[in-house]
Amino acid sequence: MINSDKIVIIGGGHNGLVCAAYLAKAGRNVTVLEAADQVGGAAATREFAPGFRASVAHLLYLLDKDISKDLALDSHGLKMAKSGLKTIALAESGDHITISTRRLSGANLSTEDKAAYREYRRFMRKFAGVISGLHNKIPPRITSERSDMIALGKMALKVRMLGRNDMRELLRIGAINIYDVLQENFDNPLLKGALSLDAVLGTNSGPRSNNSVFTALHRTSGNTRGAAGQLSLPNGGVGAVTQAMAAAAREYGAETHTGSPVDKILMDGDTIRGVQLSGGEQIAASVVISNADPKTTMMNLLGAQHLEAGVARKFHNIRASGNAAKLHLALDKLPDFKGVSPTQLGHRLVIASDMEYVERAFNHSKYGEFSTHPVAEITIPSIHDETLAPDGKHVLSAIVQYAPRNLGTGWSEGKAAFTDAVLETLSAYAPGIRENVIATELLTPEDIENEFRMAGGHWHHGELSLDQFLMLRPVPGSAQYETPVEGLYLCGAGCHPGGGVMGSAGRNAATVVLAQ
Ligand SMILES: Cc1cc2nc3c(=O)[nH]c(=O)nc-3n(C[C@H](O)[C@H](O)[C@H](O)COP(=O)(O)OP(=O)(O)OC[C@H]3O[C@@H](n4cnc5c(N)ncnc54)[C@H](O)[C@@H]3O)c2cc1C
Repeated sequence: MINSDKIVIIGGGHNGLVCAAYLAKAGRNVTVLEAADQVGGAAATREFAPGFRASVAHLLYLLDKDISKDLALDSHGLKMAKSGLKTIALAESGDHITISTRRLSGANLSTEDKAAYREYRRFMRKFAGVISGLHNKIPPRITSERSDMIALGKMALKVRMLGRNDMRELLRIGAINIYDVLQENFDNPLLKGALSLDAVLGTNSGPRSNNSVFTALHRTSGNTRGAAGQLSLPNGGVGAVTQAMAAAAREYGAETHTGSPVDKILMDGDTIRGVQLSGGEQIAASVVISNADPKTTMMNLLGAQHLEAGVARKFHNIRASGNAAKLHLALDKLPDFKGVSPTQLGHRLVIASDMEYVERAFNHSKYGEFSTHPVAEITIPSIHDETLAPDGKHVLSAIVQYAPRNLGTGWSEGKAAFTDAVLETLSAYAPGIRENVIATELLTPEDIENEFRMAGGHWHHGELSLDQFLMLRPVPGSAQYETPVEGLYLCGAGCHPGGGVMGSAGRNAATVVLAQ
C-alpha cells in the first residue's frame, strides 16, 4: 500500500496550497486534502447571508511578491479591487485622522506629530526590513554546525547593518512595548490609539504587553506588490488569492480534494505510512505535510504516543488562545459614519480612540470576559467589489477585539451580547447603522476553531511572540518545518514566519522537502 512517491498535504489553507504548488512545479506527486468544502482556510471567501460574501482574513498586506510572481497568481485570476488603502482613525465627534504610509491629515494634528510620523514610519519600516529579510529563510538550528553558525551570523549582521544608532534603538524598543514607543513619539491620543491597534490585531495582547513592538513590526514586514505595509482588497475577497493559488497548484499537477478531513496520520513503527480520512479511507504516502496548526497536528492527528514526552510537552504547551472575532454585516445601504466622506468610506476604518481605550478593551479578556467597548478594524469591500453583495447592498467586514477563546460564560451565551456590544460601539460612529442591517454573522474564536480547525481560533496558529519566533517556532527543535517524525513536516502559520496571508511558511516547507 505504500506509494513512495506520494506527498499528502493535510489542509488547503493558503500555506498548504503554496507548498503544493511549489512541490508540484518541481515535479512531485502532490495531493492536498482539505476538510472544508472549499480551499482557502481562513483566507476563503464564503457566503454568510444569501448573496453576501466575505472572508475571515479581509485585507492583504503580507502576501510575498515573489510567491505571487513564481505562481503567476495574476494570470490565475488574482486582481486587486483596491490597493493602497489608507487608515481612517475614527473619532466619535467625526474629527477623524487619515493615516497613509507617507503622511497624516485631519483635525487636531500638530506639526510635531506630522514630522514624528515620518520618522516613525522610517524606523519601523527599516526595522521591519530585518524581519521581512527572514521570511523566506529556513531558521537555523542552534547547533555548532558550520552552516547554522553562518546563518545565525548573517542574521546578526543584518541587525548590525542597521547602523549603530538604529541598531541601539531597535534593541531598546524591542524590549519595551508599543504603548511606551508611541507615547515617546506622539501627542495626539487618537493617532496613538490607531497606531497601537496595528500592534495588537490578532494577538493576545494589549498596547502595554511585551512583544507588542515585535507584532507591530511583523505587520509592517510585508512586501505585497513591492510596498511595505500596503493594504489591498482583492477582487472577490481574500478568497480570490487562495483560488488563484489552488489553480496554480492544479496547473502544475497537484490534486486538490475538498470535503476530505484527515482523521489521523498513519505510522508503521517510526515510518510515515500516509493518512486516514474521517470516513475511514486510507491514503498512502511517504511524506505528509500538515497545514493544520502544529499543536493539533502533533497531539491529535499524530498522537503523543509517537513522540518523546519532552517533545510532546513542548507541542502541547504552544500558546494559541485566539482573542479576535470577526463580524460580517449584510447592509441594505452604505452606513453613514460621522465625518467620513463617501471616498473615505472605502478605506480601512479603525475604532481605537486612544491607547487607554485599547488597553481597557484588552483588560476584560484577561478575566475571561469580552470587551464591552471593543476595538475594531473595519472594511466595506463591496464599495470596490460588486461581486460581494447584491446590487445596491453592502458588506461590512470587521475584526473585533477582544473576544477570548475561553469566555467565562461560554460563547453560546456570550455571542449575542458581544454582537450587541459591537453594534452599540459601531452606532456611536455610524448612528442608525443597526437599521441598515439585514443579516449578521459573528465568528468568535470558538467558531473559527471549529470551522477552520485552527487551535484556539488563533490568527497565527500559535501566539506570535519572541518566545515562539524564528528558531523557536513552533517549538525549539522543530523550527525547520521538519518534525521529530521522519517524513512528517509542517507548513502552516504556526511555523516561521507566522500568520497573515503571506505564503512564506508554505514555500519554505516546500524548499525543505525538496532538499531531502
Ligand atoms: C479573525 C481573523 C482575522 C484575520 N484577518 C487577517 C487579515 O485581514 N489579513 C491577513 O493577512 N491575515 C488575517 N488573518 C490571519 C490569516 O487568516 C491566517 O494567518 C492564515 O489564514 C493562516 O493560513 P494557513 O494556510 O497557515 O492556515 P489556515 O488558513 O488555518 O488553513 C488551514 C487549512 O487546513 C485545513 N485543515 C485543518 N485540519 C485539517 C484536517 N485534519 N484535515 C483536512 N484539512 C484540515 C483547514 O480546514 C484549513 O483550510 C486573520 C485571522 C483571523 C482569525
